[in-house]
Amino acid sequence: MRAAGALLALALLPALAAFTHGPVAAPVVVVDPGHDQYANLATEPIGPGSSLRKIKDGGGTRGAVSGLPEAVLNLRVALRLRPLLERAGVRVVMTRTQTRGRSMGNIARATIANRAHAALFLRIHADGSVDPAQRGTHTLYPALHRGWTDDVYAASLRAARDVQQEEVRALGFPDDGLQPRADYTGFNWATVPAILVEMGFMTNPTEDRLLATPAYEQRAAVGLCRGTLRFLGRSVRACG
Ligand SMILES: [Zn+2]
Repeated sequence: MRAAGALLALALLPALAAFTHGPVAAPVVVVDPGHDQYANLATEPIGPGSSLRKIKDGGGTRGAVSGLPEAVLNLRVALRLRPLLERAGVRVVMTRTQTRGRSMGNIARATIANRAHAALFLRIHADGSVDPAQRGTHTLYPALHRGWTDDVYAASLRAARDVQQEEVRALGFPDDGLQPRADYTGFNWATVPAILVEMGFMTNPTEDRLLATPAYEQRAAVGLCRGTLRFLGRSVRACG
């Protein structure tokens, strides 16, 4: 029996090697639905070693017509995105799965992505403006800052391009393009590629009405899935 066991172990070795090295290992995507039920007005440094501090979370915006809190919309889309990515062979880590309590802040969110060695830290948000006519989809990525973001800048920009393109295609909202941000705590603390997608404007009645429907929440999730898989060099067909 012992010999048979040893033979079996030998037979399994190539399979184990494949599992630990390479194409079989699933990439990890950290999905970060922005905000939470309550704002968090405590402050945190905007980057490692910085004396400049910002509040952890101002609380997000709210639907002009739907009245939906942004935190709820972000989570709805994230919970639709998770199974799409998982079906495509991606391991998903969520920063939160409920909307209840004080927002954890952006260092905490980045730390989850860093510890997971995420291939992408995907932050899901919707925007607000004092101008109700302002609308469209845009994607933020970390501005180049030596010591903070130089290691993830190029990959983040590539991810932002891929996800923005697919999200605009999926939602059909105006393409407001990409925006580098030097002042985003969650970017400056990330040691993995990071982007933040502003799906649309909840202060615009048209986009708010649409984003509050299950059909558009699914569209948003499919766009994020396709952009993420494109960035990962995988077939986007798995997203539906
Ligand atoms: Zn937000």
